[in-house]
Amino acid sequence: MRTQLYIDGSFGPADNGATFETIDPATENVFSEVASGGASDVDRAVLAARRAFDSGIWSNLPALERASILRRIAKGITDNLELLSRLETRDNGKPLPEAQWDIEDAAYCFEFYAKMIEGDAKADSQAIDVGDIRFDSRIWQEPVGVVAAITPWNFPMLMAVWKLAPALAAGCTIVLKPSELCSMTCYELARIVDTAGLPKGVFNLVTGLGPTAGAALTAHRLVDKIAFTGSVATGGKVMQAASAGIRTVSLELGGKSPFIVFDDCQIDKAVEWIMFGIFWNKGEVCSATSRVLVHHRIYQKLIARLKKETERISIGVGDQEGVKLGPIVAKVQYDKIMGILERAKNSGASLVTGGGRPTGFDSGFFIAPSIFSDVPRDAEIWTEEIFGPVVCLNSFETEAEAIEMANDSPFGLAAAVMSDDLDRCDRVAAKLRAGVVWINCSQPTFTQAPWGGYKSSGIGRELGRAGYEAYLETKQVTRFDHTEDWGWYQAPGPSK
Ligand code: NDP
Repeated sequence: MRTQLYIDGSFGPADNGATFETIDPATENVFSEVASGGASDVDRAVLAARRAFDSGIWSNLPALERASILRRIAKGITDNLELLSRLETRDNGKPLPEAQWDIEDAAYCFEFYAKMIEGDAKADSQAIDVGDIRFDSRIWQEPVGVVAAITPWNFPMLMAVWKLAPALAAGCTIVLKPSELCSMTCYELARIVDTAGLPKGVFNLVTGLGPTAGAALTAHRLVDKIAFTGSVATGGKVMQAASAGIRTVSLELGGKSPFIVFDDCQIDKAVEWIMFGIFWNKGEVCSATSRVLVHHRIYQKLIARLKKETERISIGVGDQEGVKLGPIVAKVQYDKIMGILERAKNSGASLVTGGGRPTGFDSGFFIAPSIFSDVPRDAEIWTEEIFGPVVCLNSFETEAEAIEMANDSPFGLAAAVMSDDLDRCDRVAAKLRAGVVWINCSQPTFTQAPWGGYKSSGIGRELGRAGYEAYLETKQVTRFDHTEDWGWYQAPGPSK
């Protein structure tokens, strides 16, 4: 399969004809040839997005008409559910049912923001009481402009759609650069957008490498906002690039999310959510609850149950029936995790199960679901994001100790707490320094609810209304009533 760039409403190769190959992580065979955009392609794409934005062809379109195009994109995604899900599984390695959730969520995200702007269509301007009848002051909300969207490989299409759907709803224009490891579904998305009636230049796709296409995009002076999901290291570079020109950024970065399990919970349910919290999507999830803190009274019992269930996980090629854990996305990530696992074995932590390649797999980037217990709090596996199917456990004695251990991390994306005492759950949730807290579950994510992190896990929120407002500028427009004779103008003074 070969892909092209999509710029100003046309598909075509990169200016210099460059391409790169991507690998099916289950077989290690070449799977696709992707157009490798460079600085000149990025420049063409940003200029197209700029022209489209400045012309008002999209931002001035009535909200109801924008919404109907968003709904057409949603339908295009739904109509291609099977194709898109299979591509996502092949590109990323995730089990097919998980890919189907992603694609369905992507379609719903367009529906959700279509509905939001249909609801807002009559409320473009909001009056403010400024305490002085001579002035009529209003808030107008306007699209932020040209958006550069840079996305990772773990939910390739969904992470792009979390940016595209609200940005398009707001009236922005976009240049998308997906991860070089998984570009296929974003390419298919461009084909769907192309037939949905979006004016040319409003959406542009430049596939390519991070340090070339990605860096050129973040540095481009005609980009108004950068929306980025990825690692903390790259997020820092994006922020630096945005500082030239003082452009807005939103960053969705990594995590090392804690899961606190109290002794009054039902152990079987805790085991189920711990497993979903770390093994879903192979642990390649920014919010994966990878640090599990268990009350000492149930610690050993829970470990035994977790080990038994984890060893029953069906590992295999993502599109095989019943597979729950596919291969790691790519060799680079596989090698990184294997290195971490080897160092973990000498860190003082106890290996409960897994810890390397599962038996019976000669090819493919497979890693067995792995559990470490009694992990030193300064060990790399306890402090660093692994982004793989590796969970660490420790015990605690008191609620205060659990909260202290949970918050002892530079990250603050998500956290979970499990207890039958709901007052305790709320009390603990209030003290956890995280943007998302789950009670008696882990990982449910809703298009309607804001998503994003505290501390090094990011800046800003995606999804929900907050995810839409992230693509709006707020303008104050104040009109003086000159029809009356107010006498010599006097400044209104400080606000009361
Ligand atoms: P990276 O930070 O390596 O890459 C993210 C994106 O940035 C990719 O498209 C990448 O391109 C691009 N990029 C790389 N270098 C640059 C650069 N210098 N300038 C501009 N863009 C660049 O992350 P991964 O793709 O490896 O994703 C995994 C990370 O993402 C994890 O740490 C995870 O926690 C985080 N993440 C966070 C999420 C959240 O919601 N908070 C969700 C998903 C992931 P290329 O791939 O071509 O190098």
